[in-house]
Amino acid sequence: MPQITKCKKCGAILYEGKKLKPPYEILDKYSGRCPKCGRKLFSDPINVEVKKIEQSVSV
Ligand SMILES: [Zn+2]
Repeated sequence: MPQITKCKKCGAILYEGKKLKPPYEILDKYSGRCPKCGRKLFSDPINVEVKKIEQSVSV
């Protein structure tokens, strides 16, 4: 199941991938700040959305 982690404030996608990543790893990658709006991600829990992608199989 793919995971999408977004900034709560501006909605910038901080992480998108098939593997689940713990939030602290994502925070570490961006030094605790949103690269888009500069919001401190450490002070607030970041919004983690887990999205399911339905795959259609064509026969
Ligand atoms: Zn942001």
